[in-house]
Amino acid sequence: MFMLRSALMLTIVVAIGGAFPHTAAAQTTPPRGIVKITGELYRAQNDNHYTVFLVTPDGIIMSDPINREFSRWLKAEMATRFKVPVRYVLYTHHDWDHASGGVVWADTAEFVGHRNMFETLALPGGVHPLAGGSLKMDANQNGVIEKSEATGDTAQRFWLFDENRDGLLSGAEMARGALSDVYPPNVTFADRHTVTLGGKRVVMVHLGNAHAPDSAVLHFPDERAVFSADIVQVKRLPGGLAPNVGDWIDALKTVLSLDFEHALTGHALAGTRADAEGLLRYLQDISTGVAAGIGAGRTLAEIQKSLTLDAYKGYDRYDMLRAEHIAQVYRTIKGTK
Ligand SMILES: [Zn+2]
Repeated sequence: MFMLRSALMLTIVVAIGGAFPHTAAAQTTPPRGIVKITGELYRAQNDNHYTVFLVTPDGIIMSDPINREFSRWLKAEMATRFKVPVRYVLYTHHDWDHASGGVVWADTAEFVGHRNMFETLALPGGVHPLAGGSLKMDANQNGVIEKSEATGDTAQRFWLFDENRDGLLSGAEMARGALSDVYPPNVTFADRHTVTLGGKRVVMVHLGNAHAPDSAVLHFPDERAVFSADIVQVKRLPGGLAPNVGDWIDALKTVLSLDFEHALTGHALAGTRADAEGLLRYLQDISTGVAAGIGAGRTLAEIQKSLTLDAYKGYDRYDMLRAEHIAQVYRTIKGTK
């Protein structure tokens, strides 16, 4: 199991498997659980996604709500264990799979996100005809996707795309993404923002454009911990290096400028500062390796063959993503992306 390594090192407070049907339908509850990291800082799991929360005498400061079902479960768990309400929801970024479901906490919490979050949540202006895969789904070619036409992820998350709830997905709704259940922040910030509650502090720091324009890392100074949903990875390669490897290197350097020991992530393993340093080294090695290859007049295919990055062979997704990352960095350096 993917969280075994971290679980062994930590106190398992609870771990609930998929034993109970969620509804009368065949839907089953994903693996969920809460693990204490240190002091009153906890990491909570919903299947392949994780969030964190800090309990204080005056209430709880939490990060991403993930989705409504998980948030309802977490809220009930918190009510029985801690008996104080969630006062803050601090977003790591806008992506639907981390930021959905905040409405569950809206009765007691203030929501904080980077100021670019508003732009990412807004429907794009101007003319947005269906394009690419969306265009292919439009079988009757009327310019919108009906429920009956939707397939794959679009069918599964239809209502998250359908901002105006008209049962039709426009080009603008498809271009924006499955963001209809993201509760917008009440408070935004530009570079950093500090939340204080019950004698505790959490500092949010903007990570530039890495992964998303509204990416932030949460720093828990007393607990010496950071939480980053999609940027810090532990012995695991990032899915993609958008918008470019330079922004990722800058983001990792920003994270590493903070004082921490616990590196908490939104997916898979949690780890330590050394793991964040390992990922930064990977990004730097791939960057210098590709630049050297281009300097020596090698083609992309040649660089993909020679730049084996052996030091990272043990990382999750190495086989799947190394060559793709090299291609991304190659395009960035060549200026073709
Ligand atoms: Zn994301």
